This record gives sequence, C-alpha cells and structure tokens, in this order.
Amino acid sequence: MSNYVEIDPVEFEDFVGYLGFNRVIPGHPCKELVYESKLAVGTRIRIYSTLTEEYGVRGKGTDAIRVVCVAGMDDIFYNTKRVHRTQNWRKNMLNRIDTIYEEMPQPRLCDKCSDGILLPKKGKFGEFLGCSNYPDCRNTQQIRSDD
Ligand SMILES: [Zn+2]
Repeated sequence: MSNYVEIDPVEFEDFVGYLGFNRVIPGHPCKELVYESKLAVGTRIRIYSTLTEEYGVRGKGTDAIRVVCVAGMDDIFYNTKRVHRTQNWRKNMLNRIDTIYEEMPQPRLCDKCSDGILLPKKGKFGEFLGCSNYPDCRNTQQIRSDD
C-alpha cells in the first residue's frame, strides 16, 4: 500500500477551521501544527496534523495524523486510532472526532477547582487520580476498585 498523499497546510487549516478547530499558538513543542477545539469542561479535542510550521507540507509518508482528547496542558484523556495520510484522511479524521463524541468515557470533574478533571496518575505509592490543573490544583483521590 503506497497510496499516501501530500496534504497542503492551507487546505488542512481550512478543513479543520470549518470543523471549529483553531491552531494552538504559539506552536506546540512537538513542532507540528496542532489544532484544538473545546469539548466538555476541562477537555479539548486536539489534532496533531503532521504538518510543520517551518517546512509546511511533509512528503508522502507513513507518519499519521492523531486525534485525541486532552485535559490540562498535555494529558491525553482519550486516544483514537491514527489517521494515515491517504486519500481518505478527511473522512477518517471526521470518524475519529465522532469516536471521541460517542465512545469517550465521561470525564470526572474535580471537586476542588471548577474546570479540572481527574486523571489517573502514577505516584510513589501506586496509581491515584490527580487533577488536570496540577500544580495549580493539588486535589487527589484514591482509585476505588468499584469504579
Ligand atoms: Zn482541580
């Protein structure tokens, strides 16, 4: 399978803009053009485009577009299957966005601050739930086995 296509950054930005996504400014440290759209309180849908600010279009290749749900700065709350840069990238990207709306578990809101959500974290004494607004909010909870 070598049906990879080149994606034009202007076309990409138009398409995601139409879907309500805005570019994250200043650029994300990963050096890709990254786009976000607000989802529920404390979460955003984020698209890693594979396109870069300096070089714009990347040659045809196997690196893939990623559509994820993030909380806080950079915590991935929900991940979806990669979108290969083939002819069908638009359709597949829409499909991943739908997956987030339909299958993502309801985030658990932090009970200490107004817009954080509780995420699984690993600490010295095992896993616990910590607020996505850490270090501004230091709320933690034990993970209950009946959850
Ligand atoms: Zn909090």
